[in-house]
Amino acid sequence: MEYDLIIIGGGVAGCAAAVTARQRNLSVLVIYAGDGALGKTKLIDNYPGFPGATGPRLLQALRDHASGMGAHLVRRLVRRVMPMGETFSVLAGNDLYTGRSIILAMGTARVKTLPGEEELVGQGVSYCATCDGMFYKGGTVLVVASDAEAVEEAIYLSTLARVLYVKERPHQTGELPDTIQVLQDKPQAFHLKGEQVALTTDRGELVADGAFVMRPAVAMTQLIPEAQTENGKLVLNSSLQTSLPGIFAAGDITGTPLQAAKAAGEGNIAALSAAKHLILLNNRTKEA
Ligand SMILES: Cc1cc2nc3c(=O)[nH]c(=O)nc-3n(C[C@H](O)[C@H](O)[C@H](O)COP(=O)(O)OP(=O)(O)OC[C@H]3O[C@@H](n4cnc5c(N)ncnc54)[C@H](O)[C@@H]3O)c2cc1C
Repeated sequence: MEYDLIIIGGGVAGCAAAVTARQRNLSVLVIYAGDGALGKTKLIDNYPGFPGATGPRLLQALRDHASGMGAHLVRRLVRRVMPMGETFSVLAGNDLYTGRSIILAMGTARVKTLPGEEELVGQGVSYCATCDGMFYKGGTVLVVASDAEAVEEAIYLSTLARVLYVKERPHQTGELPDTIQVLQDKPQAFHLKGEQVALTTDRGELVADGAFVMRPAVAMTQLIPEAQTENGKLVLNSSLQTSLPGIFAAGDITGTPLQAAKAAGEGNIAALSAAKHLILLNNRTKEA
């Protein structure tokens, strides 16, 4: 199914955007990985209309409101948003969704990368087994994993290549088949070695044809590298549109103040901007 709007993030900004977008009769999918900053907030005393609310209670109320208005909510980590002409493909877990517009509402979750990692994205380092696994058919790949979510990806990769599994953080790997070698190395840094990628570890060096880094969060620059940034922040216009027409942003991801009421307001603005963008797109299609 193609959605009018896909919202990435199910916090205040994402849910507020979903409510307004449904009011404008857009078909809306909200994809969220977890509870974000609001889920960690014990008491939030300055959100209008909810004195003394706890973060989790407010979050539940926001999600109930969004789904009650007809938005679809799914829990998955989005790894990549790909511009495809006038639509966007969104890779979430191993599923692909299509949207005619996007709102980025992922909050401020920081992702710590390994030295050398970002420089090698597209040159041996990948975050998406489904997108890039085939490039390494018959070769050897490293899976650098932070949690058990990586197990499924490693199993898929093992159908294509020999897999060496390295843990960035301790986790259970119970379901891994014996064909996947789980190493005890601690990953430290990436570099190129000829045409291969090398991972320096506390035990030495691991060399492979490609490396897949699997973490429970995705840096914004990996999620949508095509969007223009300045000093690590998305470049936005007054409609909260990014440098890519049809992709908007709202909430903590746009910068300070990191406040729930501001996130809700921006969710509202971004949804109205997305609705306007879709009307212009429809008119252009009719005229053509
Ligand atoms: C301890 C604490 C106390 C606070 N107290 C207050 C207060 O008193 N008053 C106040 O106004 N504000 C307070 N805040 C700030 C407030 O919680 C945030 O400003 C607000 O939650 C921002 O909303 P958001 O929707 O932008 O981001 P978030 O609420 O962080 O939501 C982000 C969403 O994006 C999802 N996500 C991230 N990456 C991905 C991905 N790749 N794929 C899919 N989903 C993804 C997350 O799982 C989450 O659902 C506090 C924050 C903290 C941490």
